[in-house]
Formats: sequence, structure tokens, C-alpha cells
Amino acid sequence: MQLTDTTRARIAEMLAEGATNAAIAAELGIGKDTAARHRARLGYGPASQPRRDRSPLTLEQKWEQYTRTVEGGHVEWTGRRRADTGTMVFTHHQREHTARSVAFLIRNGRPARGQVTAECDAAEWCVSPAHVEDTPSRTKLREALAIVQGTASPLTECTRGHDVATHRRYDRQGRPYCATCHAEAALARKAAA
Ligand SMILES: [Zn+2]
Ligand SMILES: [Zn+2]
Repeated sequence: MQLTDTTRARIAEMLAEGATNAAIAAELGIGKDTAARHRARLGYGPASQPRRDRSPLTLEQKWEQYTRTVEGGHVEWTGRRRADTGTMVFTHHQREHTARSVAFLIRNGRPARGQVTAECDAAEWCVSPAHVEDTPSRTKLREALAIVQGTASPLTECTRGHDVATHRRYDRQGRPYCATCHAEAALARKAAA
């Protein structure tokens, strides 16, 4: 099909402006191959591809967009959850983050170590920066509770010889347990299932 002079002029203009074949094709309703042919004829090299839009929001601002403060100071996640695990997540600049790891970062100014959990009474869903703890901070917090309750473990290793670095963990009620034994038992259950 013969292109009109107006179309040909517009192609030349868009090529001079650095438009891609796809952009020219979309605006003028022609094939990308036609745009490419005119590009070659007029001696233009390939256009640089447009940068994908990057959100102007910071990680923290993006996180905030998916949250809602509710009664009791808890924060509800309105963003998406992973289909398999239900983990609350969002994407910022093409990277996936978990809602709780960013909540932890917001309050502490450093990345979380280990798993991040909410230590409030809305453990299932709360992402409040004030309520989340990573493994070291959670262990400290629960240990303090155990000391107050008198349930703190005086042992330096568990009955199977795992040392203090992993064995002295506490559950929500301040009861001591060995993290290594716990993990091994979970693996054994999984293998038996
Ligand atoms: Zn909470
Ligand atoms: Zn153990």
C-alpha cells in the first residue's frame, strides 16, 4: 500500500525524534516492518528502547500505599499475597519485597535477619513496623518475657547437644525450645508425609 506524503513526512519526523519502530507503527497505524524500511532508507540506526517506567515513590512510600492502620495500632496489608504461601508482598523497581521485612527496615533502619514475624496479638496479618521483629530481636524480646515469667532456660545446650546459638529460642508464651531440633523435626515430618 502506498503511504500518503503526510504519513511519510510524519515517519521522517518521528525517526528524527528518536522514536522506535513500534511507536511509529502505533501512532500511524502502519506495520513495524514498514517503519523499519523507512528507517533503513533514511539511514537511521535502531532507536534506544524506552526505559520502563520506574515508580517515583521510595520503597517506604510504596509500602505505605498498601497499608491501613486499624484499631489497636495494628496495620493491615491491602496489597497482594503470594498465591502459594500467602506471604504479604509487593514489588518496587522490579524487585519483590515482603511487607514485614520492609516494615522492619522502616523502624530499624537495617535489613531484617532471619524470619520477620508480628509479635502482637494480630500475628496472622499485622505489618505494623512497631509490632514486627526479626529473629535476633524476637529472641531477645521473648527471652525477656521468659525471664519475667521464670521460664527462661538455664541450659547452655539442648538435650541433643545443639549449642546456645540455636537452642535457646522461645515461643510466644515464653517457653524455651531448640531451633535446630525444631527445624529437624519439621524436616522429618515433611519427609514422612
Ligand atoms: Zn500489630
Ligand atoms: Zn537441639
